[in-house]
Parts: sequence; structure tokens; C-alpha cells
Amino acid sequence: MRYVEEFRDPVAAKVVLAEIAHVVDQIGATAEKPVHIMEICGGHTHAIFRYGLDRLTPPGIEFIHGPGCPVCVLPMSRIDECVTLAEDPRVIFTTFGDAMRVPGSKKSLLQAKADGADIRMVYSPLDALEIARRNPDREVVFFGLGFETTTPSTALSIQQAAREGLTNFSVFCNHITVPPPIKVLLDDPHMILDGFVGPGHVSMVIGIHPYDFIAEAYDKPIVVAGFEPLDLLQSVLMVLKQIRDGRAEVENQYARVVPEHGNRVSLAAIEDVYEARPKFEWRGLGEIDASGLRIRDAYKAFDAEEKFGVGYGAGHRSVQEPDGCACGAVMTGRIKPPECPHYGVGCTPEMPLGALMVSSEGACAAYYQYGGARAAETVE
Ligand code: SF4
Repeated sequence: MRYVEEFRDPVAAKVVLAEIAHVVDQIGATAEKPVHIMEICGGHTHAIFRYGLDRLTPPGIEFIHGPGCPVCVLPMSRIDECVTLAEDPRVIFTTFGDAMRVPGSKKSLLQAKADGADIRMVYSPLDALEIARRNPDREVVFFGLGFETTTPSTALSIQQAAREGLTNFSVFCNHITVPPPIKVLLDDPHMILDGFVGPGHVSMVIGIHPYDFIAEAYDKPIVVAGFEPLDLLQSVLMVLKQIRDGRAEVENQYARVVPEHGNRVSLAAIEDVYEARPKFEWRGLGEIDASGLRIRDAYKAFDAEEKFGVGYGAGHRSVQEPDGCACGAVMTGRIKPPECPHYGVGCTPEMPLGALMVSSEGACAAYYQYGGARAAETVE
């Protein structure tokens, strides 16, 4: 298949769904004893609900929504540090739009902007660089956020700033990596995970081999997937066939986009600019070793944490989630969004209490947008 429409073909989808139902029967999975498949990426969570794949696939499959939405896994403490930076009168704080409404313990960036902070939405770190060039008397901070997909573009902006000798540009680095939290989930004795649908965009950068440990050390199948309905159905079928056949391999359904060894240019930029932090805090998962990136000493001048004395070098402290907020339990697949007491009541996309309701890739927002009350009934 070559064109997007072909990946949305309902006739082809019915064929794959029939094959999925057949393999589910062969495995002996039922609604009472389902196969648990985690889609790691928030983009996949969104697509599953958008296309109703959770309702089209047999009840013998249970999708567990993984921690692959960068906005959702960012802890409140880091939002608080963003607000501190943004409210510094010297600073123009630049960020992607989806981070604006993530609640901090006192306020979100949107509320800080309403209170007078100079916060500007950008589409790329290069926009932030341009703002720095045009405002030499102000400090421009870019909120670097995301998995390996966005990490290279932030690295390239730092390299560019270094080449130009810009002294008023820095990055508040919250870039994180996919494999460490997956290892944490696999080590959790309470988690039941039979296989994974692997992230497509992240893998475009890192390739498929960083997931080898999932197959080799944990004996679980993983299939890197694209984002169209047939991509996802085909990937689920590939995972199921591995389970049926007793195999545990890393397979690449998204080979039209994901090179086996990733993107060399992006990987070189990442290696040049960042190093692993000893620990980084994740919402719902706590601190995870070597799961976050910080800016290397060679580029220290562009590290907002160093420049403004915030974050991990300056006594970073975690912040308690609001009472009853079940973001952590949803994120680790322990409950479905409608089981959170705030779902649809105190927490909606218009008035989010937790981060999973903010981003369209968050499990709660996806349930609410495409399932709503129906999703709640399904769980009940
Ligand atoms: S409904 Fe809101 S508070 Fe509850 S888990 Fe979802 S985002 Fe968090």
C-alpha cells in the first residue's frame, strides 16, 4: 500500500479484523481472560479511540494505554518550574501550545500568561531562536519537551544558537526517552502485559533495536506501528501471531517510515548535545534512572536550569497530585479513565485537573472525545 486512503480502507480492515478474531480464538483469549496489549505511544491511543478500534476488535483484546504522551507524563513539579521561569521579568518563555494548559500545583502556563508573564506559543524551537535574535535585550527560554521525536530539533536549535553566538537563548530541557519507563512497567509485578505496539515516530529516530530488551530479557513481543487504522490493526495481528506462536521478537510494521537503525543525523545531534540525567521524575511512575536528558557541559550556556538556578541543580522537589487524581493509575494501565472519580465531572478537556485530559494524546482526553459516556458505560 502506498497512499493514506489505502490504510483506511474498510474492506481491507474487515479482512484484518476477521484474522484478528481468528487468532484471538486460537490463543483462547476471552473478555474474562483477555490478551493485554500496551500501545506505548499517545498518538496510537488517540488513533485507537478516533477510529473505534477498541470496539471493533474482539473483547479478548484489552488495550493498555502506555506512558507515551510527553505532556501527560510531565510531573507537576516541572510545570511549577516552568511557571517560575516564565514569571521572571527578564524572560520570554516559549512553548508548544499543548503544554499551556497542563496544571501546575498553583497555576498553568496559560494562567501565568493571564497574570502577565511573557509566554509565547511556537511551532518549533527555531521560532524561539528567531524571537531571541529579535529581542537581544531579553532572555528567551524554550520549553524543550518530548520523547526522541522532538529531541533532535531542540538539539539542532542549541547547535545553531552556539554557531551564531547567541547569548540570550536557553532551553528548559524536559526531553525523555521511551525504553526506561517500559522497563519499569515490565518490572512491576502488578502489571499484566502480553505484548506491545511500539511507537512509530520515536522509532523513526532511534530505530527498532532499543526495544530488543523487551523481546530478549522479558520474552514479550513488540511491533513498531504506524498511525492509520490498518497500521494499527495489522500491528495488533502481528503481536497476536507472535503470542500464538510462542515467539517474542521486535517487528517493524511501519518499515515505510522507520529505518531499522534510526536516523543517523538525528542520533548524532542527540549524542552531541545531551547526556542522560541520573534520574528524572515521571507523573505516575516516580523517578526513573537515566530516563531524562540534560544538556551537556559543552552547551551549558544554553541550559536554562543552569542559567536561572531552577530544576535538578537547584533542589528539585516533587509535588503531590490533587486529591483523588488517578492519572498515575491510568498511565500505568491499572484503571480505565472513566474509573477516575474526576472523569467528566471535575476533569474535562475544557477544565482539566490532570495532564491526561489536556493533550489529545492523553488517554482521558481520547476517551472523553471519542467515547465519552459510552466509554464509561463500557467500563461499568
Ligand atoms: S480524569 Fe482527570 S484527574 Fe482523572 S485520571 Fe484522567 S486526567 Fe487524571
